Parts: sequence; C-alpha cells; structure tokens
Amino acid sequence: MANTKYIFVTGGVVSSLGKGIVAASLGKLLQARGFKVTIQKFDPYINIDPGTLNPYEHGECFVTTDGHETDLDLGHYERFLNVPTTAVNNITTGRIYQNVIDSERRGDFLGKTVQVVPHITDEIKRNIQILGNRDFDFIITEIGGTVGDIESLPYIESVRQLRWELGRNCLCVHLTYVPYIAAAKEVKTKPTQHSVKTLQEQGILPNILVLRTEQKLSEKICHKVALFCNVDEEAVIQSYDVPSIYEVPLILARQGMDRIALRKMGVPVKGKLQLDEWKGFLNNMKTAHKSVKIGLVGKYVELPDAYKSINESLLQAATYHHRKLDLRLIHSEKITDENIAELLKDLDGVLVAPGFGQRGIEGKFIALRYAREKDMPTFGVCLGMQCMVIEFARNILGLPDANSAEMDPLSNNKVIDLMEAQKHLTNFGGTMRLGEYDCELLPGSLAEKAYGKRTVRERHRHRYEFNEMYRSRFESCGMKCTGVNPQTGLVEVVEIPALKWYLGTQYHPEYNSTVAKPNPLFMSFIEHCI
Ligand code: GLN
Repeated sequence: MANTKYIFVTGGVVSSLGKGIVAASLGKLLQARGFKVTIQKFDPYINIDPGTLNPYEHGECFVTTDGHETDLDLGHYERFLNVPTTAVNNITTGRIYQNVIDSERRGDFLGKTVQVVPHITDEIKRNIQILGNRDFDFIITEIGGTVGDIESLPYIESVRQLRWELGRNCLCVHLTYVPYIAAAKEVKTKPTQHSVKTLQEQGILPNILVLRTEQKLSEKICHKVALFCNVDEEAVIQSYDVPSIYEVPLILARQGMDRIALRKMGVPVKGKLQLDEWKGFLNNMKTAHKSVKIGLVGKYVELPDAYKSINESLLQAATYHHRKLDLRLIHSEKITDENIAELLKDLDGVLVAPGFGQRGIEGKFIALRYAREKDMPTFGVCLGMQCMVIEFARNILGLPDANSAEMDPLSNNKVIDLMEAQKHLTNFGGTMRLGEYDCELLPGSLAEKAYGKRTVRERHRHRYEFNEMYRSRFESCGMKCTGVNPQTGLVEVVEIPALKWYLGTQYHPEYNSTVAKPNPLFMSFIEHCI
C-alpha cells in the first residue's frame, strides 16, 4: 500500500480489559487479508522500560529480539502475528521525556520554552510513526492506561493531532466495559457512554467501539450504545468472554471488524480471510480430550501474568500434540522435603521458572532433586536452569555450599557467577545479557534433536552465567553442556543424557514461541511428558 495506515486502540472504564488481545486480534485479521502489520504499545509510566518493574506491577517482562525489555502485550503481538518486535514497538513516557530532555540539553530547541504541547506530543507522534512507510501497511498502536487518566493525556492529544494530519489513513478503536449487574439482572452501558464522552471531550470520536462483556449483548444494547456514543451501529463490536484468547480474532471476524476498519480507512476489501491454520489450531484445542499435566514451579504462582509466555508456550505445544494443558502452579516457597512427593504426584513433567533473588529458591532445589531422582521430564528456564546446575553441584558433585553469586556472593563454590564484564556495573536497568544470541548445539543432544539444527538463536534476560571453571567436573559426573554460545563460549544449555528429558536453558525459549511456530524445545518437552 502506498501510505501506511495507523490504527489506535484506546481503553476506557477499567484496565485489564484485554486491549492487547483486541489489538493483536485485529492485527491478525488484517494479516489474514494479506496486509503487513505491526503492533506497538505506548505505556504512560515514567520508567524507561518495564525491565526494572516487579512482576507484581505489570506481570511478565517480555524481551524483544534486539534485547529490549518490554510490556507483556508485545508477547501477545508476536504470538498472534508471528512477527518479531523490536525496541521501537514499546515506548514509555520515561523514554519520551528522556529524549526531549536530552534534546533540550543539547540546545536543539534554540532557546524556546520546552512544553508538553508541542514538544512532548511531537516526540510521541514521531515515535508512533517511526515504523511507518517502511515495511508495514498497518501500524496498530495500543495506548496503555485508561482514557481519563492524567498520564494518558499527552498520548490522547497526540492521537487527536495525528487524526487531523492523517485523515482517512487513521482509525480509532475504543475498548470499553459493559458490566452485568446481577442484582438488577441488567447490563449497563453508562460506563461506556461516560468513557466515550471523556474521549470526545479530548477531541477524539472513536470509529469503532469494542464492548468487553461477560455474556453476549442483545442488538438493543448495541443500538443504544451506537446512538448515545455517535458510532455507526455496525461498528459497535462485542468481545464477550471465550475459553481461549486465540478465539478472539474469530469473534471479531464474525462481526466484520476487519472489513469495517478497512472501509473506514478507504481500503478496498478484497479476497477472503486466510485463517485456516489458525482455525486448525483452535480446533485441535477444542477437540483434545486427553490432558498433559505440567507442574510450574515458581514464586509468582498467584499472579497469572507473571509467567505469561511460558504458559502460552506450554499451551501451544500441548495443542499441537492434541492435548489439553493441565497446568498446576506450585509455589516454590511452600515446597518442603516432606511434601514434594505429594505436590509432584500425577504430574507428567515439571518446569522450573525463571526469576530473580533468593525467595523460593530452596523449594526449587527440592523439586529439581526429586524430579531428577524420579526421572521426570524436567525443563529449567533461566533461573530454573541455574537451579538445575546448583542442585546437581550440591547433591552429585558433593559441593554442599554450591550456589549462584546472586544468592550467596560469599559461597566458595559459585557454580553460577557474574561475568567479568558485568562486575563493574552499578545500574540495574538494561545491564543484563539481553536479546538474541547464537547458540551451537551438540550433535545428538536432546536440544539438537528438538530443533533439528546445529545453530539456533534465542533471547536472553539474565545477569549470571554457568561458571566455566566447573564445566569438566559437571560433564564427568553426567551433566553435559549441550549448547554453547560460539562467540563467547558461555554455556546456554545443560542436559543429563542419562535421564529421559532433563534440560535447562540459560535463554528464554518462551519468548520465541508463537501459534504459527511453537518453540521446538517446548514441543519436545511436551512430547516426552506425554
Ligand atoms: N536471576 C538470574 C540471573 O540474573 C536469572 C534471571 C532469569 O531467570 N531471567 O542470571
């Protein structure tokens, strides 16, 4: 297409309605019509990126191929579109202000007063359009937060200006909530009306409204919303609760959301939606009767978003193997030598989660020792892999004080240690080994068989590494280093070949698993669990 078109997705009433899923689903539909689509997220907080945020704040931190720590919605974008994202796909208020302040210090503003409008809004507009007129027909921009928040104002104002400047090349989708009041046995549209009114006061008339609701809404309700919100009736779309987020594109397609969006932007609607593979995946999910039971050992089990990409990777792999995923969350802090057999009984496999810090770490060692001794399929990811190494050192190499420098800097046996180059760093943000690196796999190893090739690239997010000094001792006792970074020699994968499937990766294969292309290690793990 000659001009890139911009679609903005805003949200109202409450947060956590699934703006990211709606953005990803609309993107999926446009992609299924043959268009090139990318999705980006603008987050209104001051942090430069979510890398330093506790998972209790915003759930998982997703990492792009180029090593940028981003919001977990970027994971949804990749899982839906199967197109990798980069640093420009996630911008925060912190980055916007940092850029403007750096310019001011350089004297770029030539003595002018630097203000939110136009300087901050100009910087937001520049960032929104960075990917424009490159490879993409559509750029979908999700604006984080809720309309009416003070911190969202500069973003809404930027969208208002862009609509003015881009005319029909621009479309606004607003997502709101229609609650059901049980006592009155009624759904209520007033919050939606108020939210649209707030958006209108800020100069934006939404072209499409998406109503999040628990149950399907009647035509009467949609008619009422259209009338009171100044939106075409056909452009009032509902997104009701469904068992899987991967069904959302189909719900939106049934209501013609992609066609309506294209028409409103003056793009001819041609051809058919190519969603056969997507539907095949969903069909597999619906028709799977047997399940595969996986225990996820981590310290954030009460937070459904903390291990989002791992959960989705397991689900994708299970679905490809025509199994339902029965995921049991096991709180690592609650694990003891006495209860571990009970906690892991009946499970087909165990995954030990990534993480930072000491909390819950001893429970991970207990779980790993049990899984190793019972020869259960076991997958360790990042900290999970480091725990595999430490547990093996303590119980097999006979080094009871073995630890990671992160947990015990004074240990005499730091089998997981800081790289020399990291030791002088004092900043926390962006100072880890981040993003994609090559990994060379040992022929005949589980990893090499799973990927079906010798060299792979996977994404990282960690500070500590397998300590090379201990490598020969590990290998002679049965834990092999089967994946190594060819440039630096850093150990990326460990396995115990004597066991059925006992494998840990220093990298995060879950960032690289999509509906179209599930990650081979998750596929192999689930296959062995079955
Ligand atoms: N805390 C560990 C490190 O920094 C592991 C990080 C992770 O699991 N992402 O190396």
